[in-house]
Amino acid sequence: MVSPNPGASTPHEPQSSLLAAPLWQHEQAVALLPHVLRLTAPNPGLMTGPGTNSYLVGETATGWLVIDPGPDEPAHIERLWQAAGGDIRLIVCTHSHADHAPAARPLQALCAQRGGTTPPLLGLPSAPTANPASHFVPDRALADGEQIALQGPDRQPRHTLQVVHTPGHAANHLCLLLAQDSLLFSGDHILNGSTTVINPPDGNMTAYLDALDALDAACSAQGLGYILPAHGHVMDEARTVIAKLKAHRLAREAKVRVAMQARPQGTLDDWVALAYDDVPQGIWPLAKRSLLAHVERLQSQTGGTP
Ligand SMILES: [Zn+2]
Repeated sequence: MVSPNPGASTPHEPQSSLLAAPLWQHEQAVALLPHVLRLTAPNPGLMTGPGTNSYLVGETATGWLVIDPGPDEPAHIERLWQAAGGDIRLIVCTHSHADHAPAARPLQALCAQRGGTTPPLLGLPSAPTANPASHFVPDRALADGEQIALQGPDRQPRHTLQVVHTPGHAANHLCLLLAQDSLLFSGDHILNGSTTVINPPDGNMTAYLDALDALDAACSAQGLGYILPAHGHVMDEARTVIAKLKAHRLAREAKVRVAMQARPQGTLDDWVALAYDDVPQGIWPLAKRSLLAHVERLQSQTGGTP
């Protein structure tokens, strides 16, 4: 949970609505700003927290862009269409996991069926390392640094999002920056209330940490203050959040290194008990995936010996 921060780094008073945390509900989109809506999919769970946050950016004059339409859940897809007033111009998936992308094609089809236009599906194609269930081919692949704009009737861009390729959680993961509103849409790269799983081989710890650095640089260069994650509430103090996240990962990695040195012939089961001794045992099967990512990273740094 996030509490409003009265500190100096909260950039604009009107944006305080971003941090006013309404109760989770799946029936209706919540306006975080007049032109940024959040609709949470009805898929709460261990891996998804309160559910996947689909975001809509736009306004009546420009139509809407949907970020992460979520799981293939007809009621949620219908609500996305309603929230956009039936005018969806673009659909973007931050990555192709089952709680983010499967609604994209059905939503596109609904738009075509009801409105006669087919919004392009944008994102990055899944890598060969992806689980078959996460296979994904967008209509057009986005490039790192590319700008996607919603235009007004005068053809001038009104809302411009910048793409940042952020592999680590998934090889085809991207984040989106909306600099004019100081927002970073972080997908699953940065979450609130849960920890991003780094699951090799599509997940990669070094790529994950490097992408955190890239996001920090973007936040610094573009003055981004707020993080809008795919699971959980909005966070402010974006650069502080990123710094803490990186420190947390490196602290875990230090524990993994100690565990590997203590049990050089050990298995992941041995190491997880040592390196994740502060985490409930029920989480260990999941933690072992991120542990493997740390082990791979440490072994690549040292040529095999921790
Ligand atoms: Zn994911």
